Amino acid sequence: MRKPMVAGNWKLHKTIPEALELVEGLKKDVGDKQDVDIVVAPVFTALNAVAKAVKGSNIAIAAQNCYFENSGAFTGEVSPALLKDAGCSRVILGHSERRQIFGENDDLINRKIKAVLAEGLDVIFCIGETLEERDSEQTMEVLRRQVVEGLKGVAAEDMQKVVIAYEPVWAIGTGKTASGDQAQEAHSFVRGMVSGIFNPDIAAQTRILYGGSVKPDNVDELMAQDDIDGTLVGGASLKVADFARIVRFE
Ligand code: 13P
Repeated sequence: MRKPMVAGNWKLHKTIPEALELVEGLKKDVGDKQDVDIVVAPVFTALNAVAKAVKGSNIAIAAQNCYFENSGAFTGEVSPALLKDAGCSRVILGHSERRQIFGENDDLINRKIKAVLAEGLDVIFCIGETLEERDSEQTMEVLRRQVVEGLKGVAAEDMQKVVIAYEPVWAIGTGKTASGDQAQEAHSFVRGMVSGIFNPDIAAQTRILYGGSVKPDNVDELMAQDDIDGTLVGGASLKVADFARIVRFE
């Protein structure tokens, strides 16, 4: 059985005091929930403060990005080793905002995934098609390319440290969630890809999260799908009550 994971991607929001207030609220509300892996991803500047605040709780910390080298002359970058040092156990990679706004391609994302795994951290690997790609019936081809290229050279034994997040770009921040059926179709396709690249056992163990306008009022339908193992939440992760309700999906 795959343990559900609910991850909050805070994106570029929250000062350190605001981040601490949010996480203290979450600790009170869902801090002792054991049947779901709870993850929050603050901005870099708040990572260490939030990591200290969640010590001893069931909330884990993810970074929203990193570079693939651990040190050197790379002005402005942060490495897997330094994220670990700051208290992170996971890194979100391949988010569509990184791909679209910052020009990250499959090859760069693949290097980052391998670097993060080499450091012993877990990865939340994001994939998803744009509206244009969906409308021109390229969804499965885009997902296939992102999965194959992103996981190139990843060892089978490292797949236990990889969570995939399917986030259709047209559903991010738009209030338009994929229907349960649409999401299930994509998730089942991605699980089949993982099976083909690795093997059926690894595919059966790999968690695939859905992301894109997940809210308290649509989470239950999404989580009812066979191949949806959790959610990656943007806007609704910034409010304690909303995120806690999503963590307590039914
Ligand atoms: P929203 O939940 O705000 O649509 O964002 C989804 C997302 O990008 C999570 O990574």
